[in-house]
Amino acid sequence: MSKPTLSVVVPVYNEEEVINESYRRLTEVLEGIGETYELIFVNDGSRDKTLRLALEICRNDRRVKLIDFARNFGHQLAITAGMDASSGKAVVVIDADLQDPPEVIPLMLEKWHEGYEIVYGKRLKREGESAFKKFTAKVFYRFLDKMTDVDIPVDTGDFRLIDRKVCEALKHVPEHNRYVRGIVSWLGYKSCPVEFERHKRFAGTTKYPLKKMIRFASDAIMSFSYKPLKLATLLGCLTIFTSVLLLIFYAIFGQLNPITSIVIAAIFIAGLLFLCLGIIGEYIARMCDEVRNRPLYLIRKMHNFDDNDDQ
Ligand code: UDP
Ligand code: MG
Repeated sequence: MSKPTLSVVVPVYNEEEVINESYRRLTEVLEGIGETYELIFVNDGSRDKTLRLALEICRNDRRVKLIDFARNFGHQLAITAGMDASSGKAVVVIDADLQDPPEVIPLMLEKWHEGYEIVYGKRLKREGESAFKKFTAKVFYRFLDKMTDVDIPVDTGDFRLIDRKVCEALKHVPEHNRYVRGIVSWLGYKSCPVEFERHKRFAGTTKYPLKKMIRFASDAIMSFSYKPLKLATLLGCLTIFTSVLLLIFYAIFGQLNPITSIVIAAIFIAGLLFLCLGIIGEYIARMCDEVRNRPLYLIRKMHNFDDNDDQ
């Protein structure tokens, strides 16, 4: 089968109430575009009727493919598997619950035709989500921006289009605790946003309970920031500085007795310990870099190296 222009990856986890409508809306939009496409559902270990419904869709429509996970591996690995298996010249990742409107895909394709290699959906408004979710999401994106050196766009989920080049580059980043949107930003490439309003879920409830959200946030921070490790060094320096200040203060006012001396010594030693932890942290940070095995650099294109490279 020849390669389609567009691959659309849809992770599904217990989405029996949603999957048929999701398929219907996506097909309507994709047929309207007039390009060849494949639709890849990734069943992330659903325990409801999702798999059965997905198989039924596959039987009736050859453009729909299905990857069925052995168990629930999580949203980030589901979209990774979908992207790995895709063959389109451009790949779109979209949630099944229709919170990301499929109607935005043609706008993303337009930007891709203009030459952008990553087109990410930027949420202007979030409808139908709890105040808690909206607040934590807002704080999280801004906090992450402060914590990391990588420019990860704020208010942006995994709803995005990536060029085949970017999809291939992603395969060279084999991290386990994946924060895909961060990795995509880390890769570089030419990117631009398409703004949209995030609707409420078509049906069902969120598959991201608080526990998964915390895990997701910590993956994001730990994958792209060493600041938590560096905190120990800072605390160490501050504590040592405080003990020296106290020493001077007590010496000047003549109150340097055995008790104050012991307190100052204890603070000083605590500072030293923090400092040592910070130094160990610096080594751990470097080990993380090596163990992660991210590529050292990524090349968009080579020019004039051999006869075929300028295609
Ligand atoms: N999802 C998944 N595996 C999981 C959790 C979620 O594949 O372990 C899918 C889910 O079916 C949906 C998408 O990831 O298509 C986003 O999940 P959800 O809509 O529940 O997250 P929210 O929008 O509430 O953050
Ligand atoms: Mg959702």
